[in-house]
Amino acid sequence: MNKKGFVSLVGAGPGDADLMTVKAVRLLQQADVVVYDRLVSADILNLIPTTVDRIAVGKEVGKHCVPQEQINEIIVNQAKSGLQVVRLKGGDPYMFGRGGEEALTLKKHHIPFEVVPGITAASGCSSYSGIPLTHRGMSRRVQFITGHFNNDEPLNLNWKLIADPDSTLVIYMGLLNLPLVVDSLIDAGLSASTPAAAVQNGTTNSQQRVITTLAQLNDEIQQKQMKAPVIIIIGKVVSLADELDWFQNSIK
Ligand code: SAH
Repeated sequence: MNKKGFVSLVGAGPGDADLMTVKAVRLLQQADVVVYDRLVSADILNLIPTTVDRIAVGKEVGKHCVPQEQINEIIVNQAKSGLQVVRLKGGDPYMFGRGGEEALTLKKHHIPFEVVPGITAASGCSSYSGIPLTHRGMSRRVQFITGHFNNDEPLNLNWKLIADPDSTLVIYMGLLNLPLVVDSLIDAGLSASTPAAAVQNGTTNSQQRVITTLAQLNDEIQQKQMKAPVIIIIGKVVSLADELDWFQNSIK
């Protein structure tokens, strides 16, 4: 084959297919093969023409389907065989998605690539749950952290910096370690009454929201039996969630 392989690392956004970029949709239509994550919604997979090959390499926290090394190998091999590969990832490829590692692997193998940003879960869930990430007088800084660490490493974060009442904290993959995160924030001085939210399946018709306080967050998540993907938003901006809701009530 004399065609040269190429990889597009493409962000699929948080779930609502209408939140894909024009470029992402065009690339899906032009691809030879799409290698996609489990987080990518069915509505988005439906945008892939039936003539295009699909390879699922989905990963969920706690369940390892295809190890990252093997995902890298699949992408490299597909590109080396001359194919136009779309590596479709949930949200934005460079936000807690190991997109950087995949890009470094491609670089190492001298495979040309591009990166197409997607709407990250923080952004999508913020809009669709009525919680602006910043708001004058409430929050002038946003922190994105992950609550998940490899191989049971301790959550070694700078809690003093993170527990800032004038900022918004967004936690990706936060369900598993939530009790520890909440205790650490309160120990570091964040008030137990700080508004806090959890959003499950954000931007989709199955979106669920919990709007509560830091102290109550874990109990309410348990009561609603929330399951991944869930994003946690903590800070004064959460107090706007009911007033600014335009989506949640439309799907009830
Ligand atoms: N690259 C992705 C994040 C991957 S990490 C992005 O930019 O969004 C996976 C975590 O993202 C999940 O555990 C959850 O915390 C969050 N997430 C992704 N999609 C979500 C959704 N639709 N609703 C709520 N959280 C979501």
